[in-house]
Amino acid sequence: MSRYDSRAADPGSYRDRRPDSGFGYKRENESSYRSSSLAKYERGEQSPQRKTDLDGLPPFEKNFYVESSSVAALTEREVEEYRRRREITVEGKDVPKPVTRFGDVGFPDYVIQEIEKAGFTEPTPIQAQGWPMALRGRDLIGIAETGSGKTLAYLLPAIVHVNAQPFLAPGDGPIVLVLAPTRELAVQIQQEATKFGASSKLKNTCIYGGVPKGPQVRDLQKGVEIVIATPGRLIDMLESHHTNLRRVTYLVLDEADRMLDMGFEPQIRKIVDQVCYLLLTLSQ
Ligand code: ADP
Ligand code: MG
Repeated sequence: MSRYDSRAADPGSYRDRRPDSGFGYKRENESSYRSSSLAKYERGEQSPQRKTDLDGLPPFEKNFYVESSSVAALTEREVEEYRRRREITVEGKDVPKPVTRFGDVGFPDYVIQEIEKAGFTEPTPIQAQGWPMALRGRDLIGIAETGSGKTLAYLLPAIVHVNAQPFLAPGDGPIVLVLAPTRELAVQIQQEATKFGASSKLKNTCIYGGVPKGPQVRDLQKGVEIVIATPGRLIDMLESHHTNLRRVTYLVLDEADRMLDMGFEPQIRKIVDQVCYLLLTLSQ
């Protein structure tokens, strides 16, 4: 019996069931939830082994996006006009409409409160177009200039994603992995993750080279939902079995172009190879 089986029998172990979590996507969208793979898995109608055939890993939920009525009401012309005004260009199939206001994304209250506290007035272009895509669990490449809010463009959907996954069990690695080219950047990302993830009690840690490993190892062993790492030190931690990527279902390569320029491609490939769910996502 995998360690996930007992958790499936205990629906209370899912974060979104906590009355204080403020996470209401599945409840609002009850019928699609009932037919979802997660619901079947919870009801015991679908064993994790049958669903994935990969080390008994359970299926996971990755689509949390419910288009608000005001976004749904936007005409194609209004969407085009908004994208033109905010200099947004999109490529790909079935790209969702952008969200023009924070309240239209469907973020839980604890995220909205943090946004208000920060004094932001409207989503930046990459957020307006990126949030609905990331919340749908779509693979996404986002390009926007420095200072345009890319960090929160991927972190806020990441926080929603984590809050809908089963709690970490002992020995589990992170659910969200953010790779960044430098220690400086990794630390900045961690600051945003701490600010916006604190109210849902998410733990994070930053893994980078050039400092003693001890404190980082201790953090990893305590269990953290979000890991922000530079590639070299993360590989070191993986090779010494201080963490693993079996629970990673949300992967971000921040400043990917810079990481490639810096010659990190072999390390990135090695890391991505260990994210089992990437395979599942591609084969769906
Ligand atoms: P990038 O990664 O695109 O260079 P950052 O994510 O570091 O930019 O964001 C730059 C600054 O903008 C940060 O201080 C961040 O808190 C702030 N910011 C993020 N989103 C918004 C927003 N919607 N409105 C105003 N400021 C924002
Ligand atoms: Mg950035």
